[in-house]
Amino acid sequence: MKWIVHKFGGTSVANACGYRTVAGILAGQRRTGEHTAVIVSAMSGVTDALIELVEIAKTRDNSYPAKLEALKQRHLDTLTELGLEPRRRLELAAIVEADFRDISEVLKGVSIARIASEQIKEFVSGHGEIWSAQFLAAHLSSVARPTTWLDARQVLTVDSEGSQIKIDWTVSQTRLDQWLADHAPIAETVVITGYIASTQDGIATTLKRNGSDFSASIFAALLGANSITIWTDVDGVLSADPRRVPDAIVIPDLSYQEASELAYFGAKVIHPNTMFPAITRGIPIWIRNTFKPDERGTAISATSTFEAPIKGFATVDDMTLINVEGTGMSGVPGVSHKLFEALHAVDVSVVMISQASSEHSICFAVPAHQSGLAKKTLEDAFEAEIRRGAVQTIGVVDECCILAMVGDGMIERPGIAGKFFHALGKAGVNVRAIAQGSSERNISAVIEQHDSTKALRAVHSAFYLSPQTISVGVIGTGLIGGAFLNQLAERIDLLRTERGIDLRVRGIMNSRRMLLHDRHLDLEGWHDRLEACEAEADLARFVEHIHPGHLPHAVIVDATSSADLPRRYESWLKSGLNIVTPNKKGNAGPLNEYLKLRDAVRKSGRYFLYETNVGAGLPIIHTLRNLLDTGDTIIRIEGIFSGTLSYLFNSLDGTKPFSSIVRAAHDQGFTEPDPRDDLSGMDVARKLIILAREIGLEIDLEDVRVESLVPENLRGSSPEEFLDGLVDHDQAISELVREAQARQHVLRYVGAIEANGSVSACLRTFPAGHVFANLTGGDNIVSFQTARYNSQPMIVRGPGAGPEVTAAGVFSDLLRLASFLGAPL
Ligand code: ADP
Ligand code: ASP
Ligand code: MG
Repeated sequence: MKWIVHKFGGTSVANACGYRTVAGILAGQRRTGEHTAVIVSAMSGVTDALIELVEIAKTRDNSYPAKLEALKQRHLDTLTELGLEPRRRLELAAIVEADFRDISEVLKGVSIARIASEQIKEFVSGHGEIWSAQFLAAHLSSVARPTTWLDARQVLTVDSEGSQIKIDWTVSQTRLDQWLADHAPIAETVVITGYIASTQDGIATTLKRNGSDFSASIFAALLGANSITIWTDVDGVLSADPRRVPDAIVIPDLSYQEASELAYFGAKVIHPNTMFPAITRGIPIWIRNTFKPDERGTAISATSTFEAPIKGFATVDDMTLINVEGTGMSGVPGVSHKLFEALHAVDVSVVMISQASSEHSICFAVPAHQSGLAKKTLEDAFEAEIRRGAVQTIGVVDECCILAMVGDGMIERPGIAGKFFHALGKAGVNVRAIAQGSSERNISAVIEQHDSTKALRAVHSAFYLSPQTISVGVIGTGLIGGAFLNQLAERIDLLRTERGIDLRVRGIMNSRRMLLHDRHLDLEGWHDRLEACEAEADLARFVEHIHPGHLPHAVIVDATSSADLPRRYESWLKSGLNIVTPNKKGNAGPLNEYLKLRDAVRKSGRYFLYETNVGAGLPIIHTLRNLLDTGDTIIRIEGIFSGTLSYLFNSLDGTKPFSSIVRAAHDQGFTEPDPRDDLSGMDVARKLIILAREIGLEIDLEDVRVESLVPENLRGSSPEEFLDGLVDHDQAISELVREAQARQHVLRYVGAIEANGSVSACLRTFPAGHVFANLTGGDNIVSFQTARYNSQPMIVRGPGAGPEVTAAGVFSDLLRLASFLGAPL
């Protein structure tokens, strides 16, 4: 008879719909001439609930009958929802009712005696599988073909010694063969309970938590099956627990050994014992997703073809590290034997051992709940040695966990351990003990429990993500922020595929709302989704989300003009965030705040990029930095730094009055809503400060000599009154224009920084042939006169305002950040 085995975990059969999905999968998997054994777990959460009932009854807590009733009702409801033929439903309901009556009696006894033996717990906790298997068999019989069910306790015989489970293969095989003979001709599909078994004396027991995977491979071995497929709620074995590492990926292939190690070190998706019956008979195991049956899943077999040196990471949480230390231990034979024998005798499970070659100390990890027992046992066992002073301490470090890295490919490959520990070091994770299996298939480290997720994420990203994976958070969705997100949306895929720059926009926030995503937001239609989302803007939560610790780098793009956000830059930098911003308020703020910000940049080693603070997308700050860094000396920086003022004076040829040019510019949106913000010269002054500070001048806004073009009598009025009142000043400006024109000069509003520290922004005249005199529209122009560019200054010129060019400048700062972080140019 040809058999194949499918196992469905509790996550696959959480409700009636789950049983229907399972039936659909089985129908799709059926091949003629093959028999199918379906191992099924209890409905999701039922084993937990049954165990809890025993615990509650033991404490004489009166809530257990109500909880028992609720559990019964959940099963009866599922039965109803399955829509079985009424007679069959009533039969099954009667069985369920009878089982619950039995359990209720047992719990009453537990409650009276206030004691529950292991056997009682095993007896009660196995019922979930008994109900689940009968439900599935009944459903399959009603929608497909007649299906039999097998209570594994009739066949599977085990010898449990503490936490160890020994299968009695001979007895189990004989009983299975007998069962098959008794039920001949055997139905095409047999549903078998997972998890449960019997002892040699016929007492109900289990294969311990998560044991249904193990049941599947035991039955596969007994039936001589061709394959085992374990159906669960994830796409396969992932490179780390997806609940803790959102970027975990499906591992396509694993060797039996790799899968065993990962499972042993905590990858809950498969029970560690599952592999061993399959290995001896060479049966391949598949892990697949019940809810996405089209996904290929993970194949586990004798050899893995997936080349990555490292397959996955896992943690065993809630461990205690015990360190037995003594000068009298070195070179004395039998110390470890005595130690581990004593622990074995009380069934303490030792998960990891590390011993220094001096034999001066032995360090090992045990589950936290056994730490007291372990310590006491060792104190008794080594009593004589402690008295003599040969053993000095039995130290206990609580609240630890083990982090393990697994992969056949690390065998004889240098550098893997280095990368692992480097990643932990960089994440600030303290390593307390280290072990490497001699198979070189795993490296494990004991770390503090509270570092567990951080450590898992750090090592996972070191091996699985490109170093240019950057978590991006955008604050501000106005003209610039919006244009930036649109530009990013168009390029982001190409940047990843062609340049290896993996920009993950994981958050967008404006003053009202925020949109967050664990992996990355789809930027198509970001605006509508942000508008539709309910989450209120919460800056602290946003920043924490953008810098979760599991991605190598994170950046905040501050696309606002807020004065408040720059005050937080310092703490963001210190926490490891990079910053990209067109917002001038940080660099042009009070000098002491500016100096603190610079200090934070230096000390944090993070990047703060702000090219668009001056001249929008034009390379002005970058050019200045290059001049300075290559050792040039600045003599003078001079230029037209305001797009609006550039436009106003480029248009002022004497044919139209100044006030009408200002009004037209205002009406076309070329000025700030209040044109005085441009005409006051303060915006130019801020840009000058930024450049002056760049060359090392420690100045504040008061140190800049600014000529305001806002007449004094119009400073307090409304914008409209201002525009009206400006007419009265046309005469004065016209005179200046006429006077300049008489000398073939033009008027320009120019900012200048001299090497001696004098900084000014004022109206000046330039000869008609001068570069400043021949600009178009709102061009900016900056001239750098330096020691090297002396007689002929270096000029940067072009449009210096507008959302598209500014957003592009922000975007190129972001790409510059990626290249600083190591992206290929
Ligand atoms: P089932 O009820 O199907 O037996 P389990 O809950 O026992 O399912 O195991 C599946 C769960 O294991 C997944 O939902 C996932 O959260 C968790 N898990 C932990 N580590 C891993 C890993 N490395 N790969 C896949 N899943 C994992
Ligand atoms: N139902 C059992 C448990 O929850 C066995 C299993 O699902 O594997 O542990
Ligand atoms: Mg499981």
